[in-house]
Amino acid sequence: MHDEVSSATFNPYHMAVQQFELAAERLELSEDMREILRQPKRELAVNFPVRLDSGRIKTFTGYRVQHNVNRGPAKGGIRYGPDVTLDEVKALAMWMTWKCAVVGIPYGGAKGGVICDPKDMSPGELERMTRRFATEISIIIGPHSDIPAPDVNTNPQVMAWMMDTFSMHAGYSIPAVVTGKPLSIGGSEGRNDATATGVLFVTRRAARKLGMPLKGARVSIQGFGNAGSIAARLFYNEGCKVVAVSDTRGGIYNEAGLDPAAVLRHKQERGSVVGFPQAQAVSVSEVLEVPCDVLVPAATEGVITAANAPRVQARIVSEAANGPTTPEADAILYKQGCMVIPDILANAGGVTVSYFEWVQDLQSFFWGVDEITKKLEMIMNRAFDAVAAEADLYNSDLRLAANMLAISRVAEATQIRGIYP
Ligand code: NAD
Repeated sequence: MHDEVSSATFNPYHMAVQQFELAAERLELSEDMREILRQPKRELAVNFPVRLDSGRIKTFTGYRVQHNVNRGPAKGGIRYGPDVTLDEVKALAMWMTWKCAVVGIPYGGAKGGVICDPKDMSPGELERMTRRFATEISIIIGPHSDIPAPDVNTNPQVMAWMMDTFSMHAGYSIPAVVTGKPLSIGGSEGRNDATATGVLFVTRRAARKLGMPLKGARVSIQGFGNAGSIAARLFYNEGCKVVAVSDTRGGIYNEAGLDPAAVLRHKQERGSVVGFPQAQAVSVSEVLEVPCDVLVPAATEGVITAANAPRVQARIVSEAANGPTTPEADAILYKQGCMVIPDILANAGGVTVSYFEWVQDLQSFFWGVDEITKKLEMIMNRAFDAVAAEADLYNSDLRLAANMLAISRVAEATQIRGIYP
């Protein structure tokens, strides 16, 4: 089977602009406003040397892109990976702008990335690379300008190194410069689970709208990292049957359901979900096509395309990953009667609790997990209902509706602020 995940021709930025144009057209947005919003505001590319454990020097390339900051400071994750490109980071920054707007939190959009293979690097090499990258982008990040967070292959430890580096330059601690930090240095309760928790909240809402009980529903998940593995646990606790999961090396399937805690232990011991006993081996792309009611792509972009969308069997696709579905696949799924909860809505729980973390850091006043979960649920439900109402009004799918809602909010802020000078 063709593995769509590693398609070399797929360009996420072209896809993000295509999605933007579709919504702008429907909104009848002026050409002037389109001209402003279809480009990122800033793109910083940095090449920087890092001393490897062998004593050799290697130059790494990294990016930080800020798409739009008219609704507030730029916000977005940092990813590490061998396939990171500037166009990928630009797309992710644009999606962050729309995501913050659709859930109504006062941020603009940003994203960052470093081309590297973290699986081949020692902890010391990772730390030195992170600290030097943080230094290189420190000219544009800051607690009131641009606030990074974890994404693919970065985690609370990486955020701690970034926060420490930025603070060392200032001479005092600035916890609010990044979110997704460990609790001991100003992280927030609930941040680790936030993305997956948000995915569960909107999926509940979508299932209710379709009259489909979530209890007993079959769930398939592509990607078993922060978003995917926690989503597996939460859906399992909800009474769903998690029938398939995957990571970069392959997937596993059991129609009777998998125990996510046991799969996680297997992954921690063996480095992959592959080889988990009492499950059938499937490929990374087959996980998208197994019989299921809810499909959760939680790995990377461009995995549901015109080629495999007709074989997607789910009634709900809940996008934990950013950009997993191409516009052509969106049209096919819509026709098939499959409800796609778009990334900018489905995975907004992460940035929402990041916002809570930032607010707590700025006030040095911390909240309990119950308060955070309650506030998160309120924001996710409100956003889902607003998007669903927009979709009913325009007779559109949820992606177009979410993009229209988000873009109109960003356009309004841009219009009111005016063009400087
Ligand atoms: P992660 O690094 O913790 O996990 C990524 C998972 O995807 C791993 O299991 C990995 O094996 C798998 N994967 C990566 N590349 C793959 C590929 N090419 N093919 C198949 N599997 C692949 O990352 P994460 O933080 O869980 O992020 C996953 C997705 O969720 C990304 O699209 C990310 O942008 C999105 N997201 C994450 C957060 C968050 O808070 N972590 C928030 C919003 C959106």
